[in-house]
Amino acid sequence: MKKQDTLYIAISKDKQIHGYICSIPDTVRELQQRHSLSMVSSAVFARALTAGVLLGGNLKNKNDSLAIKWNCTGPVGSIYVESTYAGTVRGMVDDPALQPVEESITDGELVLEPYLGFGEIVVTRKTGDNRPPYYSVSPIESGEIANDISLYLRQSLQIDSALRLGLAITPANEISVCGGLLLQAYPGASDKSIQKMYDAFSAIDSFTNVLERKYDNNTIMQDILEEFDLEIIGSRPISFSCSCSSDSISSILKSLPQEDFIRFIRDDGTVSALCEYCSEEYVFSPESLEQIRQ
Ligand SMILES: [Zn+2]
Repeated sequence: MKKQDTLYIAISKDKQIHGYICSIPDTVRELQQRHSLSMVSSAVFARALTAGVLLGGNLKNKNDSLAIKWNCTGPVGSIYVESTYAGTVRGMVDDPALQPVEESITDGELVLEPYLGFGEIVVTRKTGDNRPPYYSVSPIESGEIANDISLYLRQSLQIDSALRLGLAITPANEISVCGGLLLQAYPGASDKSIQKMYDAFSAIDSFTNVLERKYDNNTIMQDILEEFDLEIIGSRPISFSCSCSSDSISSILKSLPQEDFIRFIRDDGTVSALCEYCSEEYVFSPESLEQIRQ
């Protein structure tokens, strides 16, 4: 039976910790196909997207969104993920065709550091009203997505948090599970609650294993909730969606200076534009271009 990709929002019974748990294999598979991602690029993107969904869990209002961009010194270039209050996500990696490098696979897990290197993470929160977006920047120190996002939460936002990402991907590039768990202490949470969060977290050996067992046994989710004294207070279906449209691409073409515009015209007089966030192709006929540029 196909399961809907979902983000669960939870809170501890003592109201000191809030948590986000998600499983998003179908959404990742859809973007993997759209962008024709290799196994390594899929693994990088899947973990980044999961982090984006978890961090977007505390968006409060209908038109709020959160974007995370990793500007990396490593061969992946940059990674971008965006999630919204409505549960839609989109994103991209600069290099969709990364190939495995030696020694990046340890105990069946792909180590991302050789692909990401160093650099910075830029997190942008936008609200639906016309207030300016809120940016924060944090270093990429370990090249591992979960560690560097935890560092961002601690250093930039002064939030005690624990984050695990789980992903199983075969050498043939098939994703079987993808998801994550993020716990955050509320401001003023007691040291005891924070320590309890870290202790229970370190008892989870691998979140990939947790997700794999969940497929056979729905009580696993219940176990996690009990382990952390959490109760679910909300959930959000997660799916791919991109806000690009023929109209939005038309207005970009309309605004291009003539010398830039003519470089896009192909031999048959058409222009093809690919959305970088979803790889949707938009083709404009010579007649429609004439209308756009008049
Ligand atoms: Zn798009």
